[in-house]
Amino acid sequence: MCARRVVSFALDHAKYAQNNDDGGNASSLAPRTGTITVLSDQSDGKSASTAGTQKLLTPTSLVCTRRASAHLLENDRAQKAYRTNAAVCVPITHFPGEKYVAGIQSGGIREFANLRAAPVVVATCDDPIRSEYSYSQTTNKSKGFYRLTPFGWLSLQPNQVRTIANAIKPDVLALPIDDVPPAAGKRRRETAVSRTHAWLTETLDDGELQGDVALLAGLTGGTDEVVRARAAKLTMEAVRASSACSRVVGVTVGGLAHGYPADTTKAMLAASLEAVPESMVRYAPGLGAPDDVLRAVASGVDLFDGAYPLTCASDGYALTFPLTAQAARDATHEVDASASAGVDVGSDASKMNLRAVAYRTDARPLVVGCTCEACSRPYTRAYIHHLLNVHELLGEMLLEVHNAHHYSLFFEEMRRTVDDNSFDDFANAHFAYRSAHA
Ligand SMILES: [Zn+2]
Repeated sequence: MCARRVVSFALDHAKYAQNNDDGGNASSLAPRTGTITVLSDQSDGKSASTAGTQKLLTPTSLVCTRRASAHLLENDRAQKAYRTNAAVCVPITHFPGEKYVAGIQSGGIREFANLRAAPVVVATCDDPIRSEYSYSQTTNKSKGFYRLTPFGWLSLQPNQVRTIANAIKPDVLALPIDDVPPAAGKRRRETAVSRTHAWLTETLDDGELQGDVALLAGLTGGTDEVVRARAAKLTMEAVRASSACSRVVGVTVGGLAHGYPADTTKAMLAASLEAVPESMVRYAPGLGAPDDVLRAVASGVDLFDGAYPLTCASDGYALTFPLTAQAARDATHEVDASASAGVDVGSDASKMNLRAVAYRTDARPLVVGCTCEACSRPYTRAYIHHLLNVHELLGEMLLEVHNAHHYSLFFEEMRRTVDDNSFDDFANAHFAYRSAHA
């Protein structure tokens, strides 16, 4: 009736070994590039637009959507701003029940929301924009989980997730995770592990999930490395033991969205990913700032949630951090460069606060030389400052266009430097620039 799909992830082994002294050691965490491929085989002769092979290069950031629509942009413009390597993240919480998916026809969300150009559609059980709430409540009966949705707080049951997924028909479904608050005790962490595990095995075993959606298994455990490592081991055992094993193409590392120090995040990632085969794709929602992304890519993460460029745009910020190692080195010692002007107005030199009065008469584009639709027109900083001041939506839209473009270039550069073995140089130049402007 509907298309058969095969979702697979292929690590670029040659480049990976080159970047990794212990190449071949499954537990090593090194920067890597890969490709997620969605192979559609159209058997009903309809909806030919979704047939064929779509490819997504990793590491990359998903396009964060609201009810399957890019934040303020129509999908065509969003695809352009995100420079085509734009897989879409559709939070399940935006369709929190059967009545919300009633109008979606057999083509799923791809056709319903005109997401045909997206190489991969990923459904998640958390809204990346609201991820700070994701740990806050779980039902006592341990069956469901509360999430803040656009319709208020709602309890979702794992079987509802499957019903919604059956209607949305994403290529990939990130299974629910019982995340734990930073201050959680041992018992709470253990409960989180067993709940997340139960949700995984239930989904793998009950056969309710239709079609051939690929799955990301959830990994939890809070900041406790021992609990995390055990949870990951249990999860991998359950996946291997299941007859639906081939559905699981990767993992979601949960619980990273709470703003932990860099060392803590690194240890959490390492503990969770130790037992995960390198052939699995690794999604780390909750990390989005360039510093965090660079560190996570260094630990072998492939996918990010894409909330960062949007929340920056909503807050009036344009991303301005240097996009190459050379640009970072050139800018490190500049005192009065345009890229560092934000320092004077309460920014951190990786982004620019367009609400600041300093830009009121600034006739330059957001980033000189940027080829995005906003900067190449060019709309000036002064004009965008004015739009934000008078609460004109266009201001935020232009920031979203620029931020999406800038962020996508950042990921392109990371992929390029991983492939030519200069990722460490890029990351080091970035951090030297950041500390020079701290
Ligand atoms: Zn731009």
